[in-house]
Amino acid sequence: MKFKLPELPYAQGSLEPAISRQTMEFHYGKHLQTYIDNLNKLIEGTPFAEMPLEQIVKQSDGGIFNNAAQTFNHTFYFETFSPNGQRHPEGKLAKAIEKKWGNFEAFREEFSAAAVSLFGSGWSWLSKNADGELTITKESNAGCPLTSGLVPLLTIDVWEHAYYLDCQNRRAEYVKKLWDIIDWSIVEKRFE
Ligand code: MN
Repeated sequence: MKFKLPELPYAQGSLEPAISRQTMEFHYGKHLQTYIDNLNKLIEGTPFAEMPLEQIVKQSDGGIFNNAAQTFNHTFYFETFSPNGQRHPEGKLAKAIEKKWGNFEAFREEFSAAAVSLFGSGWSWLSKNADGELTITKESNAGCPLTSGLVPLLTIDVWEHAYYLDCQNRRAEYVKKLWDIIDWSIVEKRFE
């Protein structure tokens, strides 16, 4: 099979208490695995089988898009975290955030509000546009800023499966805890 579950640079229980081991076992181990398995089945024998994941996301629609984008989005999400990372943006990214929002705290409030207020299932995103400016967007279902020509930097999965085991229906509580595990050194690499 072409695509495989990405290896994570941290142990599944190491993001506790922000994300429990049990949520990792289901969200990463089962939900993401299912999107990858479905994608592999759907692209078999099609021109998409020869493409890298980002190109499939940009060019497909329907079931192939849904499973390719969910594979990209989840990999991107899980790869943003670390148990002992850099908890604030620095350098050029910190300057870009200050230019747009005034300070990191104001950015964090707007990004959290976007995630909490998104209706139904989806993803909130911080991206860079063609002019190098930062933008916050909300995407429903498998939506991904790659299809709008943006460079994705940071995302929050607000599908209920991301938080229901740990926080039940309290999405705001889940979003608040994620700030403790986001590694800004990873976000900065994506920005540069
Ligand atoms: Mn998810």
